[in-house]
Amino acid sequence: MDIVSHGLWGGMAFGRASRKAFWAAFAFSVAPDLLAFGPHFVASVWDSLAGNGGPPIGPRHGYANVPSYIFGIYNVTHSLVVFVVAFSLAWATRRQPWWPLGAWGLHVLMDIPTHSTRFFPTPFLWPLSDYSVDGISWGRPLILVPDLVLLAGLYLWYFGIYRRRTRNTKEKLPGAATD
Ligand SMILES: [Zn+2]
Repeated sequence: MDIVSHGLWGGMAFGRASRKAFWAAFAFSVAPDLLAFGPHFVASVWDSLAGNGGPPIGPRHGYANVPSYIFGIYNVTHSLVVFVVAFSLAWATRRQPWWPLGAWGLHVLMDIPTHSTRFFPTPFLWPLSDYSVDGISWGRPLILVPDLVLLAGLYLWYFGIYRRRTRNTKEKLPGAATD
């Protein structure tokens, strides 16, 4: 899935408790891709500005130009095994689940069927197994169009109907804050 969709799905699924929770969930949703590709992206933009742009990376170019460290980070951030360990550790430390962190798990679950084995399939069982699913790439209209339509519908419903209705209900209660 593209990084903005990840952020919006994760924020809605795990960050509805407050504005702070939303942005925490948004951050955990985009982090798996941002940590893996962000440093290389920034370095590439910097190189281009300096006039010596490096070779492009992307599905069309295969793995030829992908620095090896990206695979290392991608394995860690796209593993459900690592996620479950991290989520459990956070749960044990805080003595309660830290729900915004769950957005990271959702990122991995959404990536499994939306990446083909041709370019960065999701190593969700790393380091126990390198098994991956040959899904349909999120860049194809078959995935991208329903994704954007569902996201737009979900956010319109949430902010246009759901939130307005719950706010009205609260205001009708005696003693409720009317901010
Ligand atoms: Zn990803």
